[in-house]
Amino acid sequence: MAKEKENLTCSFCGRDKSDTLMLIAGIKGHICELCVSQAYEIVEQELVPNEKKKLGGKNSFGKSIKSISPKKIKEYLDEYVIGQDEAKKTFAVAVYNHYKRIDTKIKNDVEIEKSNIIFVGPTGTGKTLLAKSIAKLMQVPFAIVDATVFTEAGYVGEDVESILSRLLHVCNFDIEAAERGIIYIDEIDKIARKSDNPSITRDVSGEGVQQALLKMLEGTDVNVPPQGGRKHPEQKMISLNTKNILFICGGAFSGIEKRIAQRINKQVIGFKKEGKTKIDESQLLEYVNHQDLKSYGLIPELLGRLPVLTHLEPLDVETLKRILTEPKNSIIKQYEVLFSMENIELNFEKEAIDYIAQKAIEYDLGARGLRSIVETILQEAMFELPDAKEKPEKLNIDLAYVQKELNISKLQTLKVA
Ligand code: ADP
Repeated sequence: MAKEKENLTCSFCGRDKSDTLMLIAGIKGHICELCVSQAYEIVEQELVPNEKKKLGGKNSFGKSIKSISPKKIKEYLDEYVIGQDEAKKTFAVAVYNHYKRIDTKIKNDVEIEKSNIIFVGPTGTGKTLLAKSIAKLMQVPFAIVDATVFTEAGYVGEDVESILSRLLHVCNFDIEAAERGIIYIDEIDKIARKSDNPSITRDVSGEGVQQALLKMLEGTDVNVPPQGGRKHPEQKMISLNTKNILFICGGAFSGIEKRIAQRINKQVIGFKKEGKTKIDESQLLEYVNHQDLKSYGLIPELLGRLPVLTHLEPLDVETLKRILTEPKNSIIKQYEVLFSMENIELNFEKEAIDYIAQKAIEYDLGARGLRSIVETILQEAMFELPDAKEKPEKLNIDLAYVQKELNISKLQTLKVA
């Protein structure tokens, strides 16, 4: 038996065990590390292109449009994003049309234009979450970038092309996959034109960046610096076509309600010759349109390339309570799993959940704050219980527990005056 072991060889190349770094045993033979990597290359070369051919020459990456519809997209979004029904509907239709445009061969000459999207809504209301969830559903690469890091080419800051570097990175430089990806450009309102008169001073970080984004949003071949940042002459570039990349922009556009009110009042005066409307301030965002974004400082050319506009509502206590418990990976569910790993059943009482949601509003933290509040509440238990000699079977979080933990935490200092 011992002798047999000494004579082990790779059943593919015949090398002796002593000449290999690793010999993996199978049922009737062995394979060395070199043959494994050669076999992998053969599979890559032969099988992957054949799979693509079976899909009609299309990329095997991503979900087929045939298996989805706007309603199914909305249902999927409902599992992760609470409320925001109008935004979800508009978004579902836009995403569906976008992938329909890419995946179906149009028989006549009608060319369908891209439906890039712009979200307007307060911070922490689910703009990024919507974009992220759709990328997950469509199984396409997804990158988030912040508009504020970009400046016009030639100035200090990042070139807009580096947006695409991020996308390439997330899919390991698979160009075909990246060309069907989704990019979320956050804080688009921060690159609004600073003054109404564009010619007075050069606005390299506002209007300059908007200008630089135009071609990319519309669809063109872009030379991308693989490492991102600033382009420099010696760098080897990767060419990427942005025709089928879906761009979603988002921004809080704080103060835009005033502009909406002004416009609506003007229209009302125009039509009815009365001065007042009965629209509630908090509902003004519902009426946002491209004209308001233009008056906020986005240039008409950019807005033309973001034809789908929708708004997200501020989150009230009821919605925050649902966010805590309902989504598939809700914050409370996540902590329940963490505690179950310690064999402890975690339970939040209704009053405790009400209180947490109210605190998130009070601290002005929105949904983003829910996690830090829950983390603060459970901090002590998560520190002590793993080492406890007698672990409880159940940890019940009631109102008194929440109040006690929050009172002794630093979170109190976040309270807005
Ligand atoms: P923003 O609107 O600033 O892009 P995000 O989408 O990044 O906000 O939301 C921040 C966090 O808050 C998310 O990770 C998510 O957990 C939570 N959140 C915000 N809005 C919702 C929502 N409508 N439904 C579920 N979770 C939400």
